[in-house]
Amino acid sequence: MPGSLLPGIFFGNDMNDTTTTGNNTTDFQSDNLQRFIFDNAPVRGEWVHLQETWQQVLSQRDYPKAVQKLLGEMMAAAALLAATVKMKGRLVLQIKSTGPVSLLMVECTSEDTLRAFAQWQGDIDDDAALTEVTGEGHLAITIEVEGAKQPYQGVVGIQADSIAGLLEAYFKQSEQLDTRIWLSADEASAAGLFLQQLPSEDEMSNHDDEENWSRISQLAATVTAIELLELGAGTLLHRLFHEEECRLLADTDLSFACKCSREKVAATINLLGKQDALDLVEDQGSIEVACEFCNEQYHFDKVDVTQLFANEVVATEPESPTLH
Ligand SMILES: [Zn+2]
Repeated sequence: MPGSLLPGIFFGNDMNDTTTTGNNTTDFQSDNLQRFIFDNAPVRGEWVHLQETWQQVLSQRDYPKAVQKLLGEMMAAAALLAATVKMKGRLVLQIKSTGPVSLLMVECTSEDTLRAFAQWQGDIDDDAALTEVTGEGHLAITIEVEGAKQPYQGVVGIQADSIAGLLEAYFKQSEQLDTRIWLSADEASAAGLFLQQLPSEDEMSNHDDEENWSRISQLAATVTAIELLELGAGTLLHRLFHEEECRLLADTDLSFACKCSREKVAATINLLGKQDALDLVEDQGSIEVACEFCNEQYHFDKVDVTQLFANEVVATEPESPTLH
């Protein structure tokens, strides 16, 4: 009922949200990121919910439950973080570790596409915690801006027991802006909520800002995993912030896409050098490369590899006999 909505809230795509809970997640727009602000406090927020995008990732391989949860949460987080950075390029979240889950990688591009995969060894308990499956490791946040020489990279050790905890620790060590993140993922959806305190407009409002931040982040902290997974942005934000002046801003549709190509694989083979590449072909009959993100198979036989190096500019001149 529109009358039950708080004054000042502007509803974009969530007019049809219902407040019913249960497993029905088709009554709101998923694969969508919704930005919001508060008229009564310098705080910005984002909500994200992924279904089809997440299903595309899960269809690539059979992940253990605990790995699935971590990867889904990282995927929601990548979308939330990418939306805070205005750039043309890509944001990559990557966990590398010495533990049974050796790699978790998610990419979100400025074209609003996502892709992700994880690598693990052996059996993983369903409810294994982050630190149990990663051991020694770190989370890296990389932002590659198109045309920039060096990517930005921030790194945080795995000290927290959740992806959200790691990211909050990262924000704490690298930025002055207070940031809170809530993430959730299961076999159907991956979802998240992000809040960040914006810089104060003047010194005098500092005290109010702190109070506002503490109140709004405490309200957000009541969010449950089920609410994240099952409610649309309008319903969830109304439930959490109905006493605040929360305003929905632009939303963005997200989707799965992989930009791997035969040319990129060829470039990687090129890095091996001609002799090593030909030795590989000799040993195995051909070079087979499967994309980790989308399982696309690339096949290079001896003719392909020879062709690949045919136009190669020889970097160093072969030694020529010296004439005396
Ligand atoms: Zn691919």
